[in-house]
Amino acid sequence: MNINYIYGKQRTDMIKKFTKLTFLVLFSATTFAQTAPPATGTTGQNPQRARRGGQMGYTVTVVNDTKVNVDTAAVNAAFKSVYPPFAGADGYRTARQVTMRVIDTAKNFTLSAKPGAFVVNSKWIKDKKNAAQFQYHLQEALHKNWASVDTIKKDGFQLVFINKNSDFVPSIKAELIDTYFKSYPQLVAMFNEKAPHEVVFVTDTAYTGVAEASGNRILFSTKYMKSHPTDIDVVTHEGMHLVQGYGYGSGPVWLTEGIADFIRYKFGVDNIGSKWTMPELSRLSADQLKQKYKNSYRITARFFEWIDQKVKPGMIIQLDKELRNHTYTDATWAALSGKTIDELWDDYAKNPEITIKYSGKERP
Ligand SMILES: [Zn+2]
Repeated sequence: MNINYIYGKQRTDMIKKFTKLTFLVLFSATTFAQTAPPATGTTGQNPQRARRGGQMGYTVTVVNDTKVNVDTAAVNAAFKSVYPPFAGADGYRTARQVTMRVIDTAKNFTLSAKPGAFVVNSKWIKDKKNAAQFQYHLQEALHKNWASVDTIKKDGFQLVFINKNSDFVPSIKAELIDTYFKSYPQLVAMFNEKAPHEVVFVTDTAYTGVAEASGNRILFSTKYMKSHPTDIDVVTHEGMHLVQGYGYGSGPVWLTEGIADFIRYKFGVDNIGSKWTMPELSRLSADQLKQKYKNSYRITARFFEWIDQKVKPGMIIQLDKELRNHTYTDATWAALSGKTIDELWDDYAKNPEITIKYSGKERP
């Protein structure tokens, strides 16, 4: 319903819009990664990954041994407007320093643009018309690095789906898109209307994690999604990171990740179908018991559900607000519940029994 796919002729408009929205990616402050759920019920941890620099780190060096004069100022200007948005969507591993070689070669070659390496035909760029449209041609050439770019719009929300590798299973792609439109607008409406309404999904075979969110972009591992096709609520967890938008220095990573999994537990589209679980205390290892709430992810999420049921309904949602307002401190736990987080965990460890309802449903 009301879904528009934009292809072909409209692609130029889409690219313009896309260029604008992907700039948001560049100014994002933090990236949260989700690690693969281990089989034993443990949860991995991934440190908060910081990205800085925006456009600052992007450079192009023109290497030209031909007799053709190339306007390097014009090349620089085109590069500055096209490459940073491309690289921002492509991934933070994408090269920031680019060498552009101008070569004498057969007439029919125009230009190629791989991350970090451009090649331009001297005869082609010598033509004033081509030189004048260099920016447009460069963008077209860069987008050829991706297997497909789709833009889907629905009820005030947009998703740009960049498939970097052609072997991404189409049915999983459809499921990720469907999950985005089912869960993300709901999370935005409930927790943060200021969260981006235009989101970019990128699938990547080179990425070895599960998924990660940064700014308005969610990166998915092709390998992980292929081997866990039912784990579509990765979208709900990562989407919550976009909604959280806490920025630098607001609360510890385990708290951010615990809240994201708590929200996935509450509002996931298909937690039961994907057999996603929050491990009970009795299943934790000695080391995990020592780590307590700092285990992060699903272990912390179950503790948060216990707080929600046994201590103070709505308290985790209040913590999310305070983290976004940058009013959260270690003292917030006692201010809201009368107990420190360690005291709360000790109470939880003594009596952890609760009724778990994934997305409001009991597991059959
Ligand atoms: Zn996460």
